[in-house]
Amino acid sequence: MGLENLIRDGGFMTTQLQRVVNWSRRSSVWPMPFATACCGIELMATASSRYDLARFGAEVMRFSPRQADLLIVAGRVSIKMMPVLQRIYEQMTEPKWVVSMGACASTGGLFDAYATVQGVDQFLPVDVYVPGCPPRPETLIEGIMAIQRVIDADGIRMDQGKREPLNIVVEPNYD
Ligand code: SF4
Repeated sequence: MGLENLIRDGGFMTTQLQRVVNWSRRSSVWPMPFATACCGIELMATASSRYDLARFGAEVMRFSPRQADLLIVAGRVSIKMMPVLQRIYEQMTEPKWVVSMGACASTGGLFDAYATVQGVDQFLPVDVYVPGCPPRPETLIEGIMAIQRVIDADGIRMDQGKREPLNIVVEPNYD
């Protein structure tokens, strides 16, 4: 099919528009940090000058869920705290994503106790699991980039709230 036909049929323009929208969405992911323990220190390091999360356009931490589209749960979560975390997730804008950072957020980690949530995926649709205790900043960056790759390939969709979690597990980086 020639270029003129593609433009006339709308295919060329639609494809290019999708690419621009996906590029801008991927390049402006705004995280909502929910850091409750030591993993939060590595989360802060990820945004610092050494690891420079800004290179990937995801350094603008928002402390209002209505301005964020990426929830990063870093650290253990108590049963009492879970309704608050769920409320924060519900208040975030669509389409939105969830990263579970570290052993405690993903499994309860060391805290196999009645008061600790044994994995936030029991209550939230976790898209990416970042392993480690704590995960290195590079591993968290890889987790965020995994979401960015999905956004890039996604197309313009407004029904993200109905989708299944991505269930991506990042390879640990112990170097
Ligand atoms: Fe702390 Fe390890 Fe739990 Fe992270 S996974 S919050 S570093 S104990």
